[in-house]
Amino acid sequence: MKILKELSRKEFREKFGTADQCLNYLADSKWQLGYVCFKCKNEFYCKGKKKFNRRCTRCGYDESPTANTLFHKLKFGIENAFEMAYDIATSKKGANSIWLAERHGVKQMTAWLFRRKVQEAMKSSEKHPLENEVHVDEFEIGTPQKGEQGRSKSEKKIRIVIALEHRNGKPGRGYAKVIEDYSSKSLGVIFNTHIKSDAKITTDGWSGYKPLIKKYPEFEQKLSDKGQNFKMLHIQIRNFKNWLRGVHSYCNKEYINQYIQEYFFRFNRLNFRGSILEKLLARMIATKPTTYKSIKYNAT
Ligand SMILES: [Zn+2]
Repeated sequence: MKILKELSRKEFREKFGTADQCLNYLADSKWQLGYVCFKCKNEFYCKGKKKFNRRCTRCGYDESPTANTLFHKLKFGIENAFEMAYDIATSKKGANSIWLAERHGVKQMTAWLFRRKVQEAMKSSEKHPLENEVHVDEFEIGTPQKGEQGRSKSEKKIRIVIALEHRNGKPGRGYAKVIEDYSSKSLGVIFNTHIKSDAKITTDGWSGYKPLIKKYPEFEQKLSDKGQNFKMLHIQIRNFKNWLRGVHSYCNKEYINQYIQEYFFRFNRLNFRGSILEKLLARMIATKPTTYKSIKYNAT
C-alpha cells in the first residue's frame, strides 16, 4: 500500500481507523517479500489462530502481524498505536506524552513508553552522511532537575554538537549528538558518523576542531562574528530548542539523544512529508521489539 501524500487526520482514519485495517497493513508490509517462518525459515504457511496470523506448515509457529515488531505486546489497541505514531510523525510542535495520553485515553507512562519505541524506530541508519557544504557548531541546553520548577542553580547543562547542510542558501539535512565535552575526540563523533569525508566543512575558530582538519581536505574555520557567519545554523538550533521545550519539561541526559533522533528524523524528511508515516511504520515493523522492562520510565 503506497501513501503518496501526507494524510489528513480524516484520511488517516479512513485507512487506519480499525484494528483490522492496521493488522492487514502490518501483515502486508511484514510479509511483502514473501512469508518466511521466524523460527525455522520455512516458506509455507496456513491460516493461524487469529484473522491475520500465519502458521508455519512445518514447525507450527503461529505468528501474528505484530510479533517481532515494535507493535508487539501493546497495552492498548493497535489502531491507537497507529494513530499515536501518526501524531508523533506529523505533529508540527511535537506530541508530548501528556498530550498523547489524554488524546488516546491511556496512562501517561504508557504513552511515554510507546513514544520511546517510536523514537527507537526513528534512529538514523547512518547510511546517508551529510555532503557538499556542511556547517558544524556546538550548543548547550539546560534541563531543570526533576522536582524543581524552571531554571535553578542545579540545572544541568547538556552539550550538543550539530551539523547542517547548506544547499543554495537553504538548510538541507542535519544531525546532532550529545557530547561529553568540547574536545576534538567528542566533536569528532558527528564527523565520523554523519559527514562525508569530501564535504566542505565550516566551523567556528574553536581549537577542538583543529585536529580534525587533516581528515577533511575541505575544512574551513571562520570566526563566528557573534553568530553572523552561522546564521542558518543558529536558527536551526533555536528551532530545536523550542521544539524540545514543547515536548518535555524534564529530560534525563540519556534520553536527549532519542529526542534528537526524533527531531532530525522529521527534519530530514520535511520535503518528503507524504511518505513520513509510511517510512516510520516500515521501520517499526522492521525493528525488533523492545521490552517495556528494558526502558526505564523517567519523565514526560
Ligand atoms: Zn516454522
